[in-house]
Amino acid sequence: MSTSSGTGYVNQRTGTHRSSLRAQSSSSASSAQKPSLKSKTLLRKSSPAALGVGSSSAAAGSKSGNGGDSAVRGRVRVAVRLRPRNGEEMIADADFADCVELQPEVKRLKLRKNNWDTDTFEFDEVLTEYASQKRVYEVVAKPVVEGVLDGYNGTIMAYGQTGTGKTYTLGQLGEEDVADRGIMVRAMEDILAQVSLETDSISVSYLQLYMETVQDLLDPANDNIAIVEDPKSGDVSLPGATLVEIRDQHSFLELLQLGEAHRFAANTKLNTESSRSHAILMVHVRRSLKTSESNGNSHMTKSLKPPLVRKGKLVVVDLAGSERISKSGSEGHTLEEAKSINLSLSALGKCINALAENSSHVPFRDSKLTRLLRDSFGGTARTSLVITIGPSPRHRGETTSTIMFGQRAMKVENMVKLKEEFDYKSLSKRLEVQLDSLIEENERQQKAFVDEIERITVEAHNQISEAEKRYANALEEEKLRYQNDYVESIKKLEENWSKNQKKLAAERLALGEKNGLDVTSNGNRSIAPALEEVSELKKTVQKEAQLKMAAEEEVNRLKLQLAEFKRVEVSGNSEIMRLHKMLESETQQKEKLEEEIATLHTQLLQLSLTADETRQNLERHGSQKTSGALDSFMSQLKLPQLQDPGNAEKPPVAKLFEQVGLQKILSLLEADDADVRIHAVKVVANLAAEEANQQQIVEAGGLTSLLMLLRSTEDETIHRVAAGAIANLAMNETNQELIMDQGGIDLLSSTAANAQDPQTLRMVAGAIANLCGNDKLQTKLRSEGGIAALLGMVRCGHPDVLAQVARGIANFAKCESRASTQGTKRGKSLLIEDGALSWIVQNAKTETTAIKRHIELALCHLAQHEGNAKEMVKEGAIWELVRISRECSREDIRSLAHRTLTSTPAFLTELRRLRVDIR
Ligand code: ADP
Ligand code: MG
Repeated sequence: MSTSSGTGYVNQRTGTHRSSLRAQSSSSASSAQKPSLKSKTLLRKSSPAALGVGSSSAAAGSKSGNGGDSAVRGRVRVAVRLRPRNGEEMIADADFADCVELQPEVKRLKLRKNNWDTDTFEFDEVLTEYASQKRVYEVVAKPVVEGVLDGYNGTIMAYGQTGTGKTYTLGQLGEEDVADRGIMVRAMEDILAQVSLETDSISVSYLQLYMETVQDLLDPANDNIAIVEDPKSGDVSLPGATLVEIRDQHSFLELLQLGEAHRFAANTKLNTESSRSHAILMVHVRRSLKTSESNGNSHMTKSLKPPLVRKGKLVVVDLAGSERISKSGSEGHTLEEAKSINLSLSALGKCINALAENSSHVPFRDSKLTRLLRDSFGGTARTSLVITIGPSPRHRGETTSTIMFGQRAMKVENMVKLKEEFDYKSLSKRLEVQLDSLIEENERQQKAFVDEIERITVEAHNQISEAEKRYANALEEEKLRYQNDYVESIKKLEENWSKNQKKLAAERLALGEKNGLDVTSNGNRSIAPALEEVSELKKTVQKEAQLKMAAEEEVNRLKLQLAEFKRVEVSGNSEIMRLHKMLESETQQKEKLEEEIATLHTQLLQLSLTADETRQNLERHGSQKTSGALDSFMSQLKLPQLQDPGNAEKPPVAKLFEQVGLQKILSLLEADDADVRIHAVKVVANLAAEEANQQQIVEAGGLTSLLMLLRSTEDETIHRVAAGAIANLAMNETNQELIMDQGGIDLLSSTAANAQDPQTLRMVAGAIANLCGNDKLQTKLRSEGGIAALLGMVRCGHPDVLAQVARGIANFAKCESRASTQGTKRGKSLLIEDGALSWIVQNAKTETTAIKRHIELALCHLAQHEGNAKEMVKEGAIWELVRISRECSREDIRSLAHRTLTSTPAFLTELRRLRVDIR
């Protein structure tokens, strides 16, 4: 973007400057001396080709015509002005610092090269972003304007990148805010204020220079104005330009507005921007010198000399943007056009370079601008240049070149450039010095601290030893005081004692003389009880000590024992195991023995029977015959115990109770002795097992006694044996009726309800099962709870019990089926009504043959009765029947089941419905 000439120049100049700076630094460390150095240089170099106003006496002379006295040395004054950040920059550059830093108080500008390095430049004026328009006018323009009023040419020019505030600085009208008024407006105000419109005149031209063409902004038709130079004086004029006389500020403002409007129109027509063209305002001030003033030198010549006029020309140039436009003509221009657009500005640069370098040839003629400004640079004009820059780091390149332009305009050899790194080096040095002093200070403080600590420690030690000493002394004093007191009181006591002693002796002597008693024995008598007491106490203590020793010995002994016990405990554990085993075998033996005891009890019963009999015989008849019979009974009872039981034949029971008497045996069922009762019932049960005895037993009231036993005793053994006997007796039809009549069902039910032993239940169930086989008793049995009792016993789960229950049910069902065949039975089976069917179905698949057989029979019997069919279908009994008809091992049952299934309409319907084929 940056072109070779500009940048190259910068670098070259920078290099030069650096070395000069080093030279300066070595010769003089004080930067405060630099301005004086600079001014020296200026004075030396500015004379012949000076940029200053009136540097050439010839020029001054030609203008004012009254010699070189008005010639003032001067040079182009260059001010730099920084535009404040605009809205866009506020956002886009928010995170970045400005590319420049202004130091207006020392008139320096620091240009940031990067984060740690800056270049420093000096200017005549450094105007920050806060600089008011008024101040800018005063420092930049006012001296020039005053020069113009004094009759000098003056130039005020703004140079800088587009958008940096050239027009704002120069051309702002300030219609909305008077504070905004720019240099043009303020200059005119100043001029108008200074001139007298009667004698003086102000005329203005306003021009635009674009592509080497001068256009009249006050007359757009006038678009190619020729520049005319006076070959003699070198004065430049634009005779073709409109000149408007200004009499007041208002007309001037209108003129500026008109000019701006035309500039805009012209640029639109040329398809360019105002930033590409230079705007030039020319203010001609023509002042008539007052007589007094003009004739001040000599009253004599007053009438001889013509009135003097001073003509001053103020040129205000708003230059085109200093940024380079692309040579490729990207802005819609041809290469030639691009060259032409740049021409005036680059020519200006070249001229300034030449002037700055004191070159013999300054190429003023290269462009219209340089021709127009010929007087402004190296001419007679007092020239002030404002270079405008923006703060954005994005335009650092343009800003740099603007600054370099300004520096050259100030005359390059005077350009001051400070190397910024010097700054951080000095900072580092300063910090190092500070650090060193801090280290020293720290060291000092540390030392002081340590000293202080030492001092405090010593002081503390001293105080402590002091206190210790004081304490020891006080202690010693106290001790001495107490010792003295002690000695003193001992002495006193001794004195008292001896006094008392003497007094006592005297008294005793007196008494002794009276009574003739032994004084000493009297004295001993008073001590005696105390001595006795002491010896008593001693004895007690000795006794206590002995007791204590004895107790300690006991404790030790116990401790040893405990250890011994612990040792023994270990071996004891294995001993316990052994004992456990022994206990087990003992238990087994005990059980055997108990069995033997039971046998012996039986023998005892028999013996008691015999004894009873014998007693009765002795009482009544004393007959030898009965006695003999009993003897034989006993011997027969005893025989099985004595003989080998395997070979021994059971003694005929009939014979037995013939001999003893059934009544006798039955009476023993009510004996007070429980053992006797048990053995008696066992004997009766044994007898009842024989069908031959049954009738006799019943006739003798045995059945009633047995039933009473169920009620009167709570002994389960008796219950079991009695129930067994009743079961045996219940095999007979007559007995069955008897049992029922005597409340047998009720008794058997309650026995069953209280029984724990399965064998008891088996007996009870067996008894009821027998009763179930009686056709006449069906209804009574059921109504007295026989079936319910039977079903209640299944809770025990013992197969023997279950077999009896099943048998009872089968018996009952058989009777019912018989009744139904005979037409005496109607309605549902009582078994089904009492809920037996579900138990039957549940147990139909049992593995226990005894149970299974009875259940199968029960099912077949139930199925015989049409009234049960519906319930049997519902409870699933039909499937058991089907199974029985197919699987039962007993052929008769199998065919019975089959026959029943096929002959019962309800079953057939169900089988058909479920499409079960039973062949
Ligand atoms: P140039 O003529 O250099 O292209 P302008 O004078 O047109 O730049 O300024 C561009 C914009 O910046 C304008 O809107 C202007 O009002 C504003 N501007 C420039 N300088 C300042 C300043 N010092 N303070 C406030 N606004 C400024
Ligand atoms: Mg502008």
